[in-house]
Amino acid sequence: MEKISLIVPCYNEEESLPTLYAELRRVTSEMSDFEFEMLFIDDGSKDGTLALLKEMASTDERVKYISFSRNFGKESAMYAGFCNATGDYVASLDADMQDPPSLLPKMMEIIKSGEYDSVATRRVMRKGEPRIRSMFARAFYKLMYKISDVDIVDGARDFRLMKREMVNALISMCEHDRFSKGIFGWIGFKTYWLPFENVKRVAGKTKWSFHKLFKYSIDGIVAFSDVPLKIPTWFGIASFVGSAGMLAFSLVRTLAYDKPIMDWPLLVCIILLMSGITLCCMGIMGLYLAKINKECRRRPQYVISSTNKENVIVK
Ligand code: UDP
Ligand code: MG
Repeated sequence: MEKISLIVPCYNEEESLPTLYAELRRVTSEMSDFEFEMLFIDDGSKDGTLALLKEMASTDERVKYISFSRNFGKESAMYAGFCNATGDYVASLDADMQDPPSLLPKMMEIIKSGEYDSVATRRVMRKGEPRIRSMFARAFYKLMYKISDVDIVDGARDFRLMKREMVNALISMCEHDRFSKGIFGWIGFKTYWLPFENVKRVAGKTKWSFHKLFKYSIDGIVAFSDVPLKIPTWFGIASFVGSAGMLAFSLVRTLAYDKPIMDWPLLVCIILLMSGITLCCMGIMGLYLAKINKECRRRPQYVISSTNKENVIVK
């Protein structure tokens, strides 16, 4: 019998987990042609998430949990899930029911049609999301589309069902500060996009602050675009052309009209402008340098403090 692994990253999800688990039990009983593994990754929760997972595991042998020693972030939790999933098919879904498990039978049916390696989900509307967040998300996707070669779809969720070959490719991408939406695009494979309407979180609050999301989008840009590194060159060319023009203009003004070369306030402005641009460019290069530094240290992506799974893999 073929096996499907369901990966659920959980960070302080004690309120949502009972609803999700009930729904997973319902959906999996409908898909009786498959064996299931439910792999919950407790990403350093401070509430009763781990206790709940242990309780679920004591009555249901399909429930496996891996608990991190601290909060490593959703991306690391998903990566731990991919590395440790044993199924022929793997799907990652959020604990808050925003990735409806009821879509799984339809997703499996599409994969079984044989044409696709994965079925990914896409929100058609961002209803229920704060306006400012939607605005920034849209701007980010537009920017990524322009500056990166990787196909990153607006509204794409991390909820997708994949064949084993695709999961193996994901595992081989062992970079830090992972940006899954880019990684999915980078590894390729034939993907069917399944649209669905945005669902509100069943309980609790979002774990993504604006600051966390901003940092995540910078990770995405640095990981999948070299365009920011070229900005200093453009500034360099523009300031060279600009200064040559200004020099010529000042010379003509002084020689023909006997005017002073430059007034000092203007000089101060130019110096401040140029040093501002230089510092910005250094900052951009620093972002890339910090990533290289992080990769060189080769630290593991997560640390496991407890699990009920045998032979866990730490990468
Ligand atoms: N999550 C996690 N670690 C984190 C933040 C979030 O494992 O540091 C999990 C969270 O428990 C949920 C999923 O990632 O299952 C998505 O998080 P959330 O619903 O807060 O994000 P949003 O849907 O608002 O983008
Ligand atoms: Mg959510």
